[in-house]
Amino acid sequence: MSLVIYNTLKAKKEEFNSLNKNKVNMYVCGVTPYGPAHLGHARCYVTFDTIRRYLEYKGYKVKYIQNITDIDDKIIKQSQQENIPWKDLSEKYWQDYIVVMNKLNIKDMDCYSSVTSRYPRATEYIQEMQKIIQALIDKGFAYAVDGSVYFSVRKFNGYGQLSHRDFEGMRSGVRIKIEEAKKDPLDFVLWKKAKEGEPFWPSPWGPGRPGWHIECSTMSLKLLGETLDIHGGGADLIFPHHENEIAQSEAYTGKKFVNYWMHNGFVTINKEKMSKSLGNVFNLKDIFEKYQNLFKFYNESQIGQIVRLFLLSQHYRSPVDFFDDKLEQAKKNWKKICFTLEDVELDYHNAIEKGYDLDILRQDEIIDKIINEFEHAMDDDFNTARALAVVHKFINLINERIGIEEHLPWLKLAREKMIGLLDNILGLKYMVSGVLRDFDGIKIIKYKKDREQARKNKDWPESDRIRSELEKMGFVVEDTPQGTRLRRKR
Ligand SMILES: [Zn+2]
Repeated sequence: MSLVIYNTLKAKKEEFNSLNKNKVNMYVCGVTPYGPAHLGHARCYVTFDTIRRYLEYKGYKVKYIQNITDIDDKIIKQSQQENIPWKDLSEKYWQDYIVVMNKLNIKDMDCYSSVTSRYPRATEYIQEMQKIIQALIDKGFAYAVDGSVYFSVRKFNGYGQLSHRDFEGMRSGVRIKIEEAKKDPLDFVLWKKAKEGEPFWPSPWGPGRPGWHIECSTMSLKLLGETLDIHGGGADLIFPHHENEIAQSEAYTGKKFVNYWMHNGFVTINKEKMSKSLGNVFNLKDIFEKYQNLFKFYNESQIGQIVRLFLLSQHYRSPVDFFDDKLEQAKKNWKKICFTLEDVELDYHNAIEKGYDLDILRQDEIIDKIINEFEHAMDDDFNTARALAVVHKFINLINERIGIEEHLPWLKLAREKMIGLLDNILGLKYMVSGVLRDFDGIKIIKYKKDREQARKNKDWPESDRIRSELEKMGFVVEDTPQGTRLRRKR
């Protein structure tokens, strides 16, 4: 089956065809780092990271660009409040962003055109922006007034095509700040005159800084070319940000800007919209700290996987509602997945010790069918909710077969394939709890052998002592005709 994507521009699902065979150019609006990263950021970047991973899984070479808006009114205001230079402020919160995104297992942006995958900062593209602004003035799409430059939306045919609104709808749909200098309230700023004491760059129109919209048009043009395969962002960016990006870019190049526009839904908190004014914006750092202490499950990076699993449990276009119970459910699901995979590992280590060859099975019909089902769900506009249902079905099937010796080669193969789906596509990094890997692992194996020896010697007190040690470490100990069998306590 071919991949189908919901395209906001067409307001329907369409078959995906990239401009260049096997390559995808993808741009996602990045953050304005003036505060800690929150759940809304997590939703957006987990969504597009998963989309990118799936495209890569399907064989596309994906060039993924995500910008940093490192100069902005909000940054200037916050830098005055924290009394540090704007550059330091945006860098500080950018570093904060990187830390939490790593915990969510978000892939680093990969910019093949540069040596390092350094995220492009708006302030590094001021000259290119000025060039485009000047061209827009020359072409009659923009005008300079009193040190600022505005884009004249009525000059651009097709304004409103993305948000599916007419001019009347736009006026009533958004709060429009009346600025004297604008010819039309809907016109938007391309170059903003600097106020006293604000950072500025010299320009033909006077000292100032770029408007937000022109940053994305410029960086995507510069780094990906005139037409993008996919442009993504939160649904709140459709109007006016993305509408304005289309107007500027297409007015400038005369070519189609984006083939597939993709937008992720909101995060709500107990069914209320997350917003600064309601005071219900959850910082990721706080969430990680709180639930890490609450869950005490594995190591710290596991909490990032649990949040990611929670976010993927809804289709990316649906709103996702956050509250404690939901995260608790995601934890249970993740624990079940991890412990199942560990149980398989414990079993086949037993078997390998006894000299079994478990690599005799390289392909299996049942597993292939499950993977097909998973791909089918992802091909349908990246339906991770359905894909996760397939994962759970797969996990249940594995659980049914655990402990049955003849299924060991199947279980080993199933475990490998499952980790492939989780890690490569859903970005859920499965990590063993330490069993069989580190010091604890060595201790466990030793306990297991000692206990088997004790049972051979009919030394029951010693056998019971070791059993209780293993139980303290979180294992269920079973005595089978093949010897001691360990499972993770669920
Ligand atoms: Zn943007």
